[in-house]
Amino acid sequence: MIKVCKFGGTSMADGINMRRIADILADDPARRYVVVSAPGKRYGGDFKVTDLLYDVWREVEEYGFVGEAYAKVGARFSGIVRELGMEFPIDEVLEETARAIEREKSADFTASRGEYLAARVMAAFLDVPFIDARDVMKFSADGRLDSERTYALVREALKGKPRAVVSGFYGETADGKIKTFSRGGSDISGAIVARAAGASVYENWTDVSGFLACDPHIVASPVGIRSLSYKELRELSYMGANVLHSEAIFPVREADIPIRIKNTFRPQDEGTEILPTSKYRYGDRVVTGIAGKKNFTVIFIEKSLMNAEIGFTYRVLSVLLKHSVSFEHIPSGIDTMSLVIDSDLLSHGVLEELCEDIRRTVRPDSMRVFNNIALIAVVGHGMSKNVGTSARLFDAIARAGVNIRMIDQGSSEINIIVGVENENYERTVRAVYEEFFGAHS
Ligand code: ADP
Ligand code: ASP
Ligand code: MG
Repeated sequence: MIKVCKFGGTSMADGINMRRIADILADDPARRYVVVSAPGKRYGGDFKVTDLLYDVWREVEEYGFVGEAYAKVGARFSGIVRELGMEFPIDEVLEETARAIEREKSADFTASRGEYLAARVMAAFLDVPFIDARDVMKFSADGRLDSERTYALVREALKGKPRAVVSGFYGETADGKIKTFSRGGSDISGAIVARAAGASVYENWTDVSGFLACDPHIVASPVGIRSLSYKELRELSYMGANVLHSEAIFPVREADIPIRIKNTFRPQDEGTEILPTSKYRYGDRVVTGIAGKKNFTVIFIEKSLMNAEIGFTYRVLSVLLKHSVSFEHIPSGIDTMSLVIDSDLLSHGVLEELCEDIRRTVRPDSMRVFNNIALIAVVGHGMSKNVGTSARLFDAIARAGVNIRMIDQGSSEINIIVGVENENYERTVRAVYEEFFGAHS
């Protein structure tokens, strides 16, 4: 049996935590392959190494060489090596890395060095081989992961190695440049290694004892979720429950490899198990979890007999395509349609141009724009079986005195998404949590 373990930033934050990792690995000989993130925050107000590296990149862009920010990165790694009492030539490796950053002149290369250094140190500490993600994770010319090639290369690299440490977060493009995944992407690297290794489970070790029913920053100590389906995970992580990167599911889902979220600081806790929908039993639970994100724009379009007008939606979407703007949702009624778009994509006049173009193209009766909208997703397989879930949801939000700006009941039947003003986001999440998980639920 093979278990692949990914350790996140907090688990890698300092030498003491890295010792915990060694203990966790020693506890179970099946934990053979390890994927690591760059060191994260040690305490509130501390910096993640990856964030420091983006500062390093700004220094290099401006002055041509590394400066103060790199000294901070160096101090983090020197501290770790010291805390671990290792014989590791960290000064030399940091020096080489600085020169490589100045030579490569790329944001992605610079950012990737956190995982590179972390994995090198961890491999030396565990006394196992280091596998550089650059040699095994390959992107095709279109920028997407070349999965088949990557799986084959990872498999080849692991062959004959009973144990190994692989750096997370990055890979190499077709023209030999380093490219990172989006933030939090070491979760994807871990899933890839799990898939390639034919793991029986992908253990994702972080700083919480699994998925909680909602963001712990909003509700104090929300209930834990014992098990989730891949589908529910996808909805929750895409909608902001960033325990696990929303794309980490794809490699393992294809091979039915379960994911287990575990807490490095409380390894005895069971955590959350994420299973294929067919193997998953949700019992009598109505809602599994709540997630959400702020800062969306809703463009509300109204036109009588919209439904009868052939190609209406097509023409609206072709305007989006023309402006290269992607949308999150398009809830619609008989004569209405709303476009829900990440507000970041609409700055610098894009919103105005887009609206003008929609007006010209489909001549709506009216059009309104709502800014500062937060989306809240209420997710659970149980919702499709329990009549009246939406009534309970809308009622709870109304009782909290919040106006709903938009509703999208996904065709997947496992989620309902509501849009509220940004300023009502936390209040709404609390009200929904209370309704479905609170003492009187
Ligand atoms: P890592 O560095 O280990 O990858 P992350 O910071 O990416 O960890 O993810 C874990 C964090 O996700 C937790 O510390 C918690 O603050 C946050 N979080 C947000 N939503 C949830 C949720 N629904 N359940 C658990 N944690 C959540
Ligand atoms: N270190 C990277 C980040 O901070 C990747 C990761 O932690 O997964 O986004
Ligand atoms: Mg993460």
